[in-house]
Formats: sequence, C-alpha cells, structure tokens
Amino acid sequence: MRRPGLLVLVVAAFFPAVKAEEPAEEAASNARKDLYRALANRSEEGMKSALLVLVRAGGRQNVDAVLRALSKIPEEDDELYWGLIQGACSFLDREALVQLGESILAARTTGRARDLMLGLARNRSPHVAFALAPLVEKGQPDLQLMAVEKIATISSPDAVDVLIAVLKREEQKKDSELRDLAVHGLQVITGKEYTTNSVNWEGWWAKNRDKPLRGRQPVETGRTTTGTVVDQLDHQRVRGFEGLERSPKKSVVVLSAEYPKLPKLKQNWNNSSNHGGSTIQDVLERMGIPHEVVNRPDFEKYDLRGAGALLINCAQFHEQCICLDCKPGGTVHNRLYQCTGCEKHKKFSAKLSGAAIKKIQTFVKRGGFLFCEDWTVKEVLERAFPQYVSAGAVLKEGKVSVTPARGRASHPYLRGIFSPEISPDEEAEGRAGDGGGEKRPKEGTTTVKWGTARKWWCSSPAPRRPVPSPSASGPAQRMPTPAAPRRAAGRGWSFRS
Ligand SMILES: [Zn+2]
Ligand SMILES: [Zn+2]
Repeated sequence: MRRPGLLVLVVAAFFPAVKAEEPAEEAASNARKDLYRALANRSEEGMKSALLVLVRAGGRQNVDAVLRALSKIPEEDDELYWGLIQGACSFLDREALVQLGESILAARTTGRARDLMLGLARNRSPHVAFALAPLVEKGQPDLQLMAVEKIATISSPDAVDVLIAVLKREEQKKDSELRDLAVHGLQVITGKEYTTNSVNWEGWWAKNRDKPLRGRQPVETGRTTTGTVVDQLDHQRVRGFEGLERSPKKSVVVLSAEYPKLPKLKQNWNNSSNHGGSTIQDVLERMGIPHEVVNRPDFEKYDLRGAGALLINCAQFHEQCICLDCKPGGTVHNRLYQCTGCEKHKKFSAKLSGAAIKKIQTFVKRGGFLFCEDWTVKEVLERAFPQYVSAGAVLKEGKVSVTPARGRASHPYLRGIFSPEISPDEEAEGRAGDGGGEKRPKEGTTTVKWGTARKWWCSSPAPRRPVPSPSASGPAQRMPTPAAPRRAAGRGWSFRS
C-alpha cells in the first residue's frame, strides 16, 4: 500500500520543475490576464498572486499593466487600490522602475502620484534613485520632497548623483528644504560631513565614485535608555528632533488631570497614573523635551499664548464620589466602582467645562497643535470638533486595517506613518539589494511586501486593565490625523506590516 503514496510524492516534486519551464513571457502574459480577471471578480487573493508573478517578471509592460489597472478601481474599493499601488511599487528592476518614475511624473498633478510615492517607501532597489531623478527635477514641490527624502535612504552611486544635482540647483536659495534634505542624505549615504557647498561634494565624488559607500556611523543622540522613541530615531527623525530640547518651555503644554487642593488620595485623575502607565509629562521628561504642565483647575485662566502644542492626558472625567469614608465595591463601570459602607457622598467631576473646550477650539483655530490621548476622544475631541471626529461604540478586541485616503499620502502628518520600520530580515534583504549599487537582487528572491497599511488593535477599555504607556506602545500605534486617513473596509485580505 505504500507505493501509490510514493508515486504522488514524486509527481508533486516534479510538478514545479515543469511549471518553471513555462516561458517567462507566457507566464507574465497569463498573469496580466489573471490580474484583470481577479480585479473584475474583486478577488484580492487572485490579484495578489498575479502581482507576484508580474513583479518577479519585471519590465515595462508588466508594471504598465498594474498601473493601467489602477485607474479602473472603483472609488470605494480601497483595499484593491492600495494592493495595486503596493504591487506597482514592488518592482525592483531598472526598466520597470524607470517606467514607474515616468508614470508618477506624468500624473504629477494627481493624488495617485503621491500614493505611488508612498508605496515606494519600502522599495530597497538601488534603481529607485535613477528612476525618480526626473521627478526630482520636474515634479511639484511636495513630490520633489518625497522623492528626495526617498532617495536619501538609498545607498547607491545613482542616489549620490541625484542628490548632488539637487544641491547644485538649490544651494544659492535662502531657504530650501530640498537642499537640506539633499545635504542630509549625502552625509548619511557617504559618511562625509560636507555641508551646502556643492563644490566640496563634487570634488570628493569625482575621486570616490568607484569606491564603496561607507555610510554614516549610527546616530549618537546621547539618549539610548529613555524607553521612548528617542532611543531609536533614524537619521531622518533625528534631523526633525534636533533643536527640540532647546525649545522654550512653554512651546509644549500638557494638560494634566491633577487637583492639588483635593485630599491626597483624590488628587490625580490622569488615567495612566492610576492604571500602570506613564503620563504624557513623564514621557516628555524622559525624551528631554521642554514642556509646561498645567493642571485642570488652572486651565481656564492659563494663558496659551506662545504655546505651539497642547497635549491632553487621558483622564477619568466621569462623575464620581470622592468621599474618603466610602469604600469602593460592587461592579465596575468606566473604571469606577460603587460606594459602599458610607451614606455621605461627595460628588466630583474632572470633566473639562464648556469654557475649557471653547478655549481648546480657539487654540486650534489659531494654528495650535492638539494631541489627545485615549478617552479624550470623547471628552475633548468630539465636543470641540464634532464635524471631524466622534467616539463610536466601545469595540471588543479586533483588528482593523487603516489606509490613508486616496491621494492624501503626501499630507505632512502622514510622514513616516505608513512607511513601516524594516525588520532585521528585510534589512538584510535590502542590503543584498542595494550593496552600493553593485549587486543586483538575485533572481528568484523577489518578495512582494504588502505593507502600505498598518494594523491597529482596538482593545476594549476593560476595567482594571493597565493602560499601555505611550513609550511601550511605540510609534506603531500612533493614529494618523483623522481627517486624511480612512478606515479600510473590513473585508477580504488585509495588509500586514
Ligand atoms: Zn462616603
Ligand atoms: Zn460615596
């Protein structure tokens, strides 16, 4: 009875070899048809497998097929749309990437051009720099910035060429973000510390173009044990962080739910203080960012002039009893117990008044930045800005995938949000890919990364469950601005980061 089993095994082992002999062009041609068929049937699985074949095959015609399909996706089908964006941006060969760069340039006035740039975030091919060079020269300003920012992450001679060209065009300008990005990129890629004088860079490059690119040594922030994101800033983020530690104290104001005049045990209504987390001021302290803390009782009279950002701690804002003789007991609701063992009660509420909400509205209307934590969606955001955001029903634990709204990928608030960190495996893979532009990705090792969107866990605020501290949750859980991104429909396959 063993023989048939063995036979099946042999056939199975042989089958892939037969398939591999199918002419590459025929396989790609079939995959192009499969792609359109899958899209017509709205089959995400089918789309994914067709895209894998096309990306492996590479070339102008295949990337074009993906880009053409993109224009046929209906408005409401965000998952197919972002799947195709990710597919188009996963090609690694020079020919396909040059075609992609041309398409982005041709579509430079559209949102799709921005979305494609966003999709390139994880593409580690050394050919990206060459492919984006025309866009750097002729694109709209936001696209130029996105392109230079991307090129600054690619260690290849092409990237150095493009960045020096940018520097030459921009060096005489009084202020130029492009120039600053280009200089920073050159420093990171080459490890040289010349600044905005292009002559220095050109001179050095003429003598060193054929030598390996050494890259800058790891960033020294002086902070490696803060337990916050500051410990792991990449080169781009360090640039944004520089100078923050010298900003005036009042630039950042934290609204804290502390009531120093109440009896000792009843003074602090910051939820993180009472549920095992860190307050925002704790985290800022560790990050070394100057800030001023204003307590809720003082907020209405507090002068917000000169403040750039207001950060509000999640607070217990439901009405409660603060009688010292009442003992907590019974069932829990909204993290509050019921009173037992005492008949006198003393009602208290930390909820921000209408006047305080008005003050926050005015602050934001004047250009202030507002950052809210957790329950403040209900307490602050939906009261101050009901036209933009509201708290929904409490969710059980579940997964949602979040994608940016189409065409909004260059929104400054989304910078870095949808370009997930590279895991160590991918880092190694990426190095094999760029390697100073000398090595090409090995044939057959192409993997398509489905990584535009990220996952957020919505956990129900169960009573007595510790709130994760902002540092523990890290950048992955930061929600992007509610206006631009949109929650993707919860059907079919989803992106993974
Ligand atoms: Zn009591
Ligand atoms: Zn009571």
